Amino acid sequence: MSVRRIREYPDPVLRGKARDVEAFDEDLEALLEDMWETMEQYEGVGLAAPQIGIDLRVAVIGWQDRRIVLVNPEVIEYDGENVLEEGCLSVPGFYEKVSRPDRVVVEARDGMGNHFRIEEAGFLARAIMHEIDHLEGKLFFDRLSPLKRNFMKRKLLKRVEK
Ligand SMILES: [Zn+2]
Repeated sequence: MSVRRIREYPDPVLRGKARDVEAFDEDLEALLEDMWETMEQYEGVGLAAPQIGIDLRVAVIGWQDRRIVLVNPEVIEYDGENVLEEGCLSVPGFYEKVSRPDRVVVEARDGMGNHFRIEEAGFLARAIMHEIDHLEGKLFFDRLSPLKRNFMKRKLLKRVEK
């Protein structure tokens, strides 16, 4: 197992659309182990494979006593609205209030390839949707108003130039 380097905005790997996992083999198992280790090392609540440079639809979420592995996840249903401050390991040091659905139903496969469906609300729903966004090449500031988004992007790019 090893801790992988977290890719940060504007790394292009964060903007691509990740591919479905087709083989539920030892490579996937090793990837998941590294993702858990990396997430814990960086004290995140979630991590998506593109954040460590792997363009596969894989994400892990660890919050309180919950451990969720999402392989090839699809959002089936969502409703409600909830606004809460959000951050991202790939956008370190930046936090903004982001509006997201309050409840989400997701179908996915686990690390062994078993299909499952989960329904979550509140913080976990937010965490799940944040990670699924990563698999689509979206970052949390894409969900801000254009004014806030552009302001934040300018600050981010200024920091990268330094
Ligand atoms: Zn993130």
